[in-house]
Amino acid sequence: MNEVVKYEKRGTTAVVTMNRPEYRNAQNSAMTYALDAAFQQAVDDDEVSVIVLAGAGKHFSAGHDIGTPGRDVDVHYDNTAIMWWDHVGKKGGDLRYAREMEVYLGMCRRWREIPKPVIAMVQGACIAGGLMLAFVCDFIVAAEDAFFADPVVRMGIPGVEYFAHPWVIGPRAAKEILFTGDRFSVQRAYEWGMVNRVVPSEHLETETLAIAERIAAMPRFGLALTKRAVNQCEDAMGMRNGIDSVFGLHHFAHAHNAEVGPDSLGGMDTKSMKSAAQ
Ligand code: ZN
Repeated sequence: MNEVVKYEKRGTTAVVTMNRPEYRNAQNSAMTYALDAAFQQAVDDDEVSVIVLAGAGKHFSAGHDIGTPGRDVDVHYDNTAIMWWDHVGKKGGDLRYAREMEVYLGMCRRWREIPKPVIAMVQGACIAGGLMLAFVCDFIVAAEDAFFADPVVRMGIPGVEYFAHPWVIGPRAAKEILFTGDRFSVQRAYEWGMVNRVVPSEHLETETLAIAERIAAMPRFGLALTKRAVNQCEDAMGMRNGIDSVFGLHHFAHAHNAEVGPDSLGGMDTKSMKSAAQ
């Protein structure tokens, strides 16, 4: 069976794995909704204390699907994250805003509020939409070969839809990675406080599961309240309002691109984004 997301239980840990390794786990809507269903399953299972989010193959996630054969922008899915009409059959900003509110920003916010600790287990590429997923996790354990980037300024767009960068890595580092679009190493991510642990690639899974087990020893309700406590403080530091205001700029950029150029992505696709990468 070719599932886009795999779900397995390892003791008290649920491991949710993005499973499109042939496309470096590019996220199409099928994957987004499958992730949401897997997270819901882990939340509902009283035996699960901690969730690990992983990517099959060499890479965690190369970002949103902007060009694989499985790209499913025009496919209808029932909204899960927000109360809004479906984007399918709409036009222009009406389409883009509805879709990105639901599939990108809404889902990320929903997953950030999962009442159980979520650990991102990252190897290889963690780019753009992949970075968003790592941002919403509570903990990031990364292999030595992991690298990160948000290169969407090349499309003329001020960062990905879930704009947590200034809160996660600080304003100066945020400007550096956005202005250059360059990849940054796991070591820099660690120095900026974005990554909790850097481990040898061959130990990534065992180290991540060991941390999950350590966390699972704590009382479940206490963990849920503690997660909310930190998230609420982060929002009190302006993150929620900041992301909302930047989402407006993000959509202004999409609309500007569509008005003056070939499409809302500034004519960029997977190939041109990849060849511009450093
Ligand atoms: Zn967008």
